[in-house]
Amino acid sequence: MRSILITGGNGGLGLAIGRYFLHHDSEAKVWLGVRARRDKAAILADEYQGRCGLLDLDVTDQAAWQGAVEQILGADGRLDVLVNNAGLHRDCLLAAMPAETWHEVISANLDATFHGCRAAVPAMMRQRSGRIINIASLSAILPPLGQTNYAAAKAGVVALGRTLAKEVARSGITVNSILPGYIETEALAAMDGEARKTAQKGIPMRRFGKPAEVAAAVYFLASHDAAYITGAALKIDGGIY
Ligand code: NDP
Repeated sequence: MRSILITGGNGGLGLAIGRYFLHHDSEAKVWLGVRARRDKAAILADEYQGRCGLLDLDVTDQAAWQGAVEQILGADGRLDVLVNNAGLHRDCLLAAMPAETWHEVISANLDATFHGCRAAVPAMMRQRSGRIINIASLSAILPPLGQTNYAAAKAGVVALGRTLAKEVARSGITVNSILPGYIETEALAAMDGEARKTAQKGIPMRRFGKPAEVAAAVYFLASHDAAYITGAALKIDGGIY
């Protein structure tokens, strides 16, 4: 049995990653972290009864993280894979950005990744094995206007991962980041038809990515075969960068 925690489990990428593990690894036990909305995660949990559970987890809440990891260790006795996937963006030009908007985005993306790693690493060190995969963004290295908050948070996620990878390398734990470009999920819902066309013209492959195309990379980085890959930042963007 392999115990896997995926945050943002009701969102487009979180669901796709959960489904990918459940479909490809019959030994996978998947915990989907959810906060307010849980409708789609509940359907997946129903489909894979006994192998997929829901966990209340607001990733900005350090105490909730401790509780979630304790619950998993109580149920499974181990935590093999942590996918820090939950996140959000609140785009706004810096000249007009309220401080709350800055802090909200830093908290949901960067602070949350710290809390998640902080909660999971001691258990993984005791096991002397573990895989941490942080979902950053292409914005970490190629930020558009209006994302000073999001780009700074996601660049921080990559830097955190690179540093932590060194700290835990001798404990059998790998830490890697994924930098998706445009992926077809609700995160792109605000784009109208014209904005989608313009964005796709800037992608050499001329299409947005599918959630399963990100999930496949997460699955590989979580595998035994990826044991020598750590501190990496893998972009998945149809060739934009
Ligand atoms: P979605 O909006 O579909 O899903 C995001 C998920 O994160 C939601 O389930 C949301 O929960 C959850 N979430 C946000 N804040 C918190 C919080 N404080 N505590 C717990 N859960 C929270 O977007 P995606 O699936 O596309 O995004 C997944 C990740 O991928 C994010 O980190 C995003 O930044 C990153 N990404 C996505 C790209 C894309 O094009 N789709 C591109 C680059 C990066 P709720 O439903 O309750 O709000």
